[in-house]
This record gives sequence, C-alpha cells and structure tokens, in this order.
Amino acid sequence: MLTLDFHPTGRHFLQIPGPSPVPDRILRAMSLPTIDHRGPEFGALGMRCLSGIQQIFQTRHPVVIYPASGTGAWEASLCNVMSPGDQVLMYETGHFASLWIKMATRLGLKPEVLTLPGLEGWRKGVQADLIEARLKADTQHAIRAVCVVHNETSTGVTSNIVAVRKAIDAARHPALLMVDSISGLASAEYKHDEWGVDVTVSGSQKGLMLPPGISFNALSPKAIEASRTAKLPKAFWAWDEIIEMNKTGYFPYTPNTNLLYGLAEACDMLLDPQHGGLPAVFARHQRWGEGVRAAVKAWGLEIQCADPAVYSPVLTGVMMPEGVDADAVRKLIYDRFDCSLGTGLGKVKGKMFRIGHLGDCNDLTLMGALSGCEMGLKLSGVKLAGSGVAAAMDYFAGHPSRMPLQKAA
Ligand SMILES: *Cc1c(COP(=O)(O)O)cnc(C)c1O
Repeated sequence: MLTLDFHPTGRHFLQIPGPSPVPDRILRAMSLPTIDHRGPEFGALGMRCLSGIQQIFQTRHPVVIYPASGTGAWEASLCNVMSPGDQVLMYETGHFASLWIKMATRLGLKPEVLTLPGLEGWRKGVQADLIEARLKADTQHAIRAVCVVHNETSTGVTSNIVAVRKAIDAARHPALLMVDSISGLASAEYKHDEWGVDVTVSGSQKGLMLPPGISFNALSPKAIEASRTAKLPKAFWAWDEIIEMNKTGYFPYTPNTNLLYGLAEACDMLLDPQHGGLPAVFARHQRWGEGVRAAVKAWGLEIQCADPAVYSPVLTGVMMPEGVDADAVRKLIYDRFDCSLGTGLGKVKGKMFRIGHLGDCNDLTLMGALSGCEMGLKLSGVKLAGSGVAAAMDYFAGHPSRMPLQKAA
C-alpha cells in the first residue's frame, strides 16, 4: 500500500543514480504559483531556463526542452534526424545503451551494435577504434549516425566522447555524433560544442538535481540541417516549431511551468561563480567518486568498471561475490537503514548494486550511505576484507574540497 504520510525520523538516503536528492532551494522555487504560460512573466522564465541550460551543455546552439522523461528526449533525438530504414552505429556499454538500441529498432531504424565480447563491454567505455574501423569500412557512407552513452548509469562507466569524435573524423565519415548524457550532464565534464557533438540527450533527475519530468536535446547546426530532410514522422518532438517559439522564451504547448522554476534555480546554483561554477561541480563529483571507490576497494569487493581511466564520477557499481544476491543486500539496507541503492539492470541483475554519488550530496551523506552499505553487507554475510567506511573517512579527511563549504565571514 502507498503510505505517503509515513515518515520515519530523519531523511531517507536516496543514493540511487537518479532521481537524485532535490535541494530544498529548488523545492521552494518549484512551489511558486503556476503562472500563465502565455503571459509576460513566462517569457522571462523561459529565457532564463534556455540560456542557463545552454551554459550547462556548454553550447551556443539551441537546446530543446521537453516535458518528458529522458526516454522521450531519446526518441526526439532519433526521430528529428533519421529516416525510416536508416543505418545507425550504436555502441552497447550497458543497459541504457541497449534500451536506446531497442528504441531505434522500434522506430524503424537499422541499428548495428558494437561492443566487446561477454561482460567486457559492460565493464569498459566505448572503444573508439572499433567505431573508426567500422566507419572506414563504410565507404558508401550508409551509416547516418553514431550513438554512444556518455555516462552508462547501469554500470558506472564513462566514455571518452572526444575519442569518438576523433574516430569519426579520422574515418572522414559524415555520420552525426549523438550522445546520451542523461546522467552525465552537470556531474561529469561535458562540452557539447567543443567536443563536436551533434545531438546530446539529457534529463532533469540526475546531475541537475531536479525531479524527473523534463529532458533535453542540445543541437548542432549540422543536426538542425539534417532535421529539415529527415523522414521519420515527428510532431510533438519536432524541433522546428519549438526553436521558433523559444526565441521569445515561449513553447508551442503548455510547458512544465513549475519544473522550469526548478530548472532556472538549478542553473543558478550550478553556474554560481561564488561556488566555482561548473569546474567545481565536476571536481566535487570526482572527489565523491574517489571516496566511494576507496570504500569498495577496502571492502575487497570488485568495482563494475574495469578501466580506472573511465571510472564514473556519478555512481559506482559494486559487484557481489559469487552466490550473494545483490538485490537481497539492497533490500536489507533499505529496510533496516532507510537507504535506497540502485539495482543491477539487465544482464548484471542480482550480481551488483549501484551507489549514486551525484547531485545534492556531501561528504557526510556519502559516509551515511557507506555506513548503511557496510552494515548491510556484514548482515548479509558478505566477507569483507576491511572497513570501507574507515577508508572513505580517511580519503575525505585527507582530501579537503577545494571549494569552501561556508560563506566567507
Ligand atoms: C536515466 C537514464 C535514461 C532514462 O531516462 P528516463 O528519465 O528514465 O526516461 C537513459 N539513459 C541514461 C544514461 C540514464 O541515466
């Protein structure tokens, strides 16, 4: 039974890699009265959101905002630039990549999937050399787009988008570069323009610290050009009418007004120069990732990501020893310590769980979550090599945040 009035003491530890905890400042901003979406005030709010989100994507080009979850923005990205039967080269790094591939098939595209054999593909980032070799072999330029996931949320592995861009350029191939950074944006470094991405897909409930419900397509001039001749049916998702109305801050349909209040506030928080702006956002996620991985290593457990060069600053996948059901451990931690952890998805279900370290966290919320994990692992009978909590404390204490946490007096 749903018991929304049930409130134990203290705060629930929402340590899944999205939705991430929403700061009180954003919740308050969203509680403002809903306004007329055709009235004069709304245009100013729309402009604030559109300019803020462009800065977060690090782009000068249009960013389309949809009242939809990330999955909607995935569909939008494909149906705006593709035609029925188009070939797309998609790299499978994990469960989310495989869902995007499934969607491409359902939309009538012909995805060709690249990955490493066995579980390797789900433990490493995109291998750009495989993309380069495949594109070089495509002398007819039949492949219309290369699709990759920037931060694979199901495994805790990032991919080097600059290397993918270089691979496409080295093959002198005209394919569009399309990137899912739904969980990477505003946590892991991301530069839409500089990295030469044509369409970046993102969502609200991860690094942006908002509730679920809005999502994004960041565009390039080449993507906009492609959308003019692309033949997949598109109406609600079509970029052209939205971009046109966005010029004055309005939308062709009723936008998600209160979530946009939240988005404007989130942009202010993330971009605030007093707090160091985006570089400080990326640095703090890196630091949290280091602390959490120190704990996992001290427990003697294996990290899902097998390549330290691409450890995710957003989440860490913790693999269970043979014979331990990761979901039973998660359930115990949830029931006993009021802490939510991410489940293993797809082919790693039951074999690992995920600790989110994104958004509105700090050292002590992560220490709390790690304590819950350590107690839960012990109660589940998992043999630990040592205390991960002690290791994480040592890491956080020994590596102070570069940004001050308190206002200067
Ligand atoms: C969360 C997520 C999605 C799906 O987004 P929804 O908002 O659940 O539709 C897709 N890709 C990645 C990488 C994600 O983290």
